[in-house]
Amino acid sequence: MPKSREIIASVVSAAHDVRNENRTLTWGEDQVLVRVERGGICGSDIHYFLHGRAGMSVLKQPMIIGHEFVGRVVETPSGSQLKIGQRVAINPSLPCNRCSRCLEGKQNLCGQMRFMGSAQFLPHVHGGFADYVAVSEQQCVPYADSSDAKVIAFAEPLAVAIHAVNRAGSLVGKKVLVTGSGPIGCLTIAAALASGAAEIVATDMSERCRLLAREMGAARAVDPGNSDMTDAWQENGGYFDVCFEASGAAAAIASTPGFTRPGGRIVQLGMGAAIPAFPLGLLLVKEITLVGSFRFIDEFATAVRWLESGRINPLPLLSAEFPQSDVVKALETACDKNLAAKVQVVF
Ligand SMILES: [Zn+2]
Ligand SMILES: [Zn+2]
Repeated sequence: MPKSREIIASVVSAAHDVRNENRTLTWGEDQVLVRVERGGICGSDIHYFLHGRAGMSVLKQPMIIGHEFVGRVVETPSGSQLKIGQRVAINPSLPCNRCSRCLEGKQNLCGQMRFMGSAQFLPHVHGGFADYVAVSEQQCVPYADSSDAKVIAFAEPLAVAIHAVNRAGSLVGKKVLVTGSGPIGCLTIAAALASGAAEIVATDMSERCRLLAREMGAARAVDPGNSDMTDAWQENGGYFDVCFEASGAAAAIASTPGFTRPGGRIVQLGMGAAIPAFPLGLLLVKEITLVGSFRFIDEFATAVRWLESGRINPLPLLSAEFPQSDVVKALETACDKNLAAKVQVVF
């Protein structure tokens, strides 16, 4: 028998149409009911709010937004390992666990991935911006009562950053460049530092983002328009062992093969459109390895542990928080890159 309760959910119906609505949440015997405490606004939420789409995922029906959230367990399936009242971070990924990608341990590449707050499939998969949400037990990662929910709510974007670090291979003693110092770029800086990188340099056009990059562990943060600097990085075949491209901007993508030393590696994690000119010749003659990085696998649990233990402090990135009643204001604030890095909503 499915159970149900009334909830208040933040629903996007079209571009510039996000409202708090009363809805009925139903859930099955095998699901966990969670009282949501706090959630971070991500780039995809902003895209649904501004354009009614995020990349190739186009809104075709109203959808509850949000995939970066934490809460407390209210109800568990019988025989569950979870305890009532326990604090949990929610992994928004629900892979099929049956396809060949899943069976080889690359669940992030699952073609049937149900990712919360994503309009990729019909019906869309609702997100977690509501006072209550029902999830599967495997999505719940418990965390210590003594931790701050505003810290643990960074688990999902930090998991993206740790996955990118894993795609890079060992960073011990390496010189690292991170192009683009938004929340993902800054968390990649922190994850690279925690993983033994010797020197981390960041770029961003915004001075505010460069300051945050420094706070998150970059030794230097440079305006990509500073050609004295960027020319020097191209001398002797290239300065950096590993470049993380976290901006998705065409100019930044095209610049990374020049900055990377022969035999080095580029990890592309910024979602970019097609770019007019890419120096493929440099990739070839320098034998650079170019790899993509998409979402995360078991790095989600790692991210929760790193945040819980204080190995990474994400709080310099938290720019503002709003109650759910002001969710539209929260989204508008998150849209303005000159004002805000991460904005959270409190439920
Ligand atoms: Zn996210
Ligand atoms: Zn699968």
